[in-house]
Amino acid sequence: MDYDYDIIIIGGGPAGASMARIAAQNGMSVMIYDKRKELGEPVRCGEGLGQREVLAQGIDLPRWCFSTEIHGAKVIAPNGKSITWKSKDTKGWVLERKMFDKWLVELAVEKGAKVKTYARVTDLVKKDGKIDGVMVSQWGKEPFEVRAPLVVSAEGMEAIVARKAGLKAMSTLYDVDTCYQYEMKPYDHENLIELYFGNKIAPRGYVWIFPKDAKKANVGIGIGAHLTNWKKGGNVDGADPKILMDRFIENHPQLKDSSVLQDFGGVISVGAPIESFVKDGFMCIGTAAKQVDPIHGGGIALAMETGILAAAIAKKAHGKKDYSEKALKEYESIWRAGPGKKMAKRLLLRKVMEEVNDDDLNHIFNTITDADLQKVMEGSFAGPVAKVVGGRPQLLRILKALIS
Ligand SMILES: Cc1cc2nc3c(=O)[nH]c(=O)nc-3n(C[C@H](O)[C@H](O)[C@H](O)COP(=O)(O)OP(=O)(O)OC[C@H]3O[C@@H](n4cnc5c(N)ncnc54)[C@H](O)[C@@H]3O)c2cc1C
Repeated sequence: MDYDYDIIIIGGGPAGASMARIAAQNGMSVMIYDKRKELGEPVRCGEGLGQREVLAQGIDLPRWCFSTEIHGAKVIAPNGKSITWKSKDTKGWVLERKMFDKWLVELAVEKGAKVKTYARVTDLVKKDGKIDGVMVSQWGKEPFEVRAPLVVSAEGMEAIVARKAGLKAMSTLYDVDTCYQYEMKPYDHENLIELYFGNKIAPRGYVWIFPKDAKKANVGIGIGAHLTNWKKGGNVDGADPKILMDRFIENHPQLKDSSVLQDFGGVISVGAPIESFVKDGFMCIGTAAKQVDPIHGGGIALAMETGILAAAIAKKAHGKKDYSEKALKEYESIWRAGPGKKMAKRLLLRKVMEEVNDDDLNHIFNTITDADLQKVMEGSFAGPVAKVVGGRPQLLRILKALIS
């Protein structure tokens, strides 16, 4: 077969770039197409990333890719009571995603992958009914054909090409959060992530304040999409993330006089991953496959981890010249037995947590101390959970979801 590349990857986000890096390192010829004019821009992300997940990949994050180190978290109940967990060690970063995404792609290029920006994949090319390449429109010009035995969708939430491949990559409103975020300045902080909960603050979601350097912060909100004002009839009729966000800021003593340096809206999956990740000659990875944490909506680490796994399976397929759905399915089985299992538990927990009302939340925060939170962060749940459940047996359901 006269192919242009061994793999064509649609999307140069964390999933696509990570897969490209390892596949190129394994000797495969890789082309990444990204529709953006500049990789990583515009930023549509809170930019929070756990340190453990990145170090596990054997890469060192350069200083210019992150804004601030994270040293803990502060969680605030609907009644304003807060609990704080602080650590001397770095637990994560608030990234500069426009630098980070580009850096990940640069790593892939250093291993031999090629990339083209402002290049939108508009369609799939099929031969004898099988996926055999893509149509690409660069700089908005007439699409041209590029062929590869393996096409990978790393397209993020939209996943238009994945759908053209026959994968069910649509989410229901219930399984999506609609978000709004401002980058704000000034904001004095202690390098802690702040999370605010409450049905009036962020129904089926939360407000986050992620610290950045130079007294800046990403201040964002995510709420259940089924509760937004374009779908009347939900529990909170007419909820709008931007209106809720503005109200939150007006009532926040530090933020109410701060300036907005950037604002954007976006959606993120908080539901289950898609039913199937592969077809003959086709893989779907990262947020395109809805591989996103169902509780906090974080998807960067999962996207990177999955990219690496997918590259290992692509290498096997390449070695045997077998890109059939059956051969590629190994990626899906390994994923579902590993990260997928953890994700399924967290999805269950999210659904149970949805039923916790503001009164229950206030009770939890009134009962738990900073020292209890420290114990939970160190993995010791029994004492703190017993304290909380002691007062409210109905919270036992959460405990059940946590340990099952
Ligand atoms: C408001 C908000 C806040 C978030 N905050 C966090 C956070 O703090 N921490 C965290 O871990 N996650 C966060 N996320 C989720 C995170 O941004 C994603 O999970 C992550 O970017 C997924 O990486 P990816 O590579 O799968 O997809 P993406 O990063 O979305 O990359 C997809 C790429 O594909 C390209 N593309 C799409 N279609 C085509 C096409 N047809 N042709 C060519 N190119 C195409 C896009 O241009 C893009 O560059 C947030 C999401 C939102 C919406």
